[in-house]
Amino acid sequence: MIQAAHRVENLYESVIRSITVHAIQKGAINLGQGSPDFDPPRALIEAAQQALSENYNQYAPTWGLAELREAISDKTEAFYGFRPDPDTEVTVTCGVTEAVISALVGLVDRGDKVVILEPAHENYHAGVVFAGAEPLWVPIRPPDFTFDPDELRRAFRQPKVKAVIFNTPHNPSGRVFSREELQQIADLCLEFGVIAISDEIYEHMVFDGRRHIPISTLPGMMERTITISGLSKSYSVTGWRVGYALATAHLTDALRKIHDFTTICAPTPLQKASVTALRLGKDYYDWLTSYYDERRQRMMQILEESGFVAPIPEGAYYTLADFRPVAEALGIDDDDDAFTYWMIDEIGIGTVPGSSFYRSDPSLGRGRVRFAFPKKDETLDEVARRFERLRVRVGI
Ligand code: PLP
Repeated sequence: MIQAAHRVENLYESVIRSITVHAIQKGAINLGQGSPDFDPPRALIEAAQQALSENYNQYAPTWGLAELREAISDKTEAFYGFRPDPDTEVTVTCGVTEAVISALVGLVDRGDKVVILEPAHENYHAGVVFAGAEPLWVPIRPPDFTFDPDELRRAFRQPKVKAVIFNTPHNPSGRVFSREELQQIADLCLEFGVIAISDEIYEHMVFDGRRHIPISTLPGMMERTITISGLSKSYSVTGWRVGYALATAHLTDALRKIHDFTTICAPTPLQKASVTALRLGKDYYDWLTSYYDERRQRMMQILEESGFVAPIPEGAYYTLADFRPVAEALGIDDDDDAFTYWMIDEIGIGTVPGSSFYRSDPSLGRGRVRFAFPKKDETLDEVARRFERLRVRVGI
């Protein structure tokens, strides 16, 4: 039999995807996968339709439409006070997913090590594997979802650490890293000469007056950070596959080589429509925050009333809820895989098992499941009704 390459042997189908398949088969509402079930702003759909009829149907320049790179630079400056050069420091990619892979494969060598703060988006590990490097997992531990600075330092002290990759606002914990936490990571990057790959896809979902801080804005970090974000979450267009990477020309050169020869370019008409998204005014982001804040409060209330202990998200749109009080009332144990299937089969709600987020020690996620709440009111009304079934079962 023809063998697959060794490098893919340890990559498995995403747990989230297989649970989604089961949830669909059972007619469950899927709060497992993090995609919105509402439409993007009307102006974006119209801009995309217009682009299709205005000849934006062929390859775009590989680094991205000039107009879009310009809009990305302007928006970055408006929000964070630094302006990447659109020609040499901005690269438009097929989503954050591709930007992460291009950064890792373009910058990390075979035999290098990459520190991954976990829980982590699944494609960080894939990118490290594609680069032939070795992941060093450092957990962000429940219930506070903070990392242990000594443990992080021990990881950085290992030989051949080339990069650290992490995400803030954080999926799945809902944490927004504080300036102090980011400074601890930055200090280690500077001391050990390590590149920071910072996934900031949830940058516009921060609650209770918090602010998202890009690590690149900390002293000395601009030269050694690849800041990655995209359109998927901020504008509810996960299917458009438009993201971007910001980095100094030297780092950008490296990741562009992988990008160019892998995807050529992100979809041209959707790049054109993305200009409209990036040029939306402050009102849009104010609306987005308050819309997600409403969803967050609704989800928290449903979970609390049903016996879950769910950390209130500081940002993003997930909570990694402790279901042990529910399990205890039901007389079942804290196996999160079994609980996930029970939730789909008995309550009609899809979630993701907490242990699937931890590679270093899956038991860190035991007793927890992730709920995603980028859902419209009608969906959350139905979620509330289904949780009533759970309350009846639990006897609350
Ligand atoms: N990074 C994180 C932390 C995510 O949660 C997701 C999607 O859920 C992605 C990246 C994927 O981003 P994109 O759709 O831009 O590829």
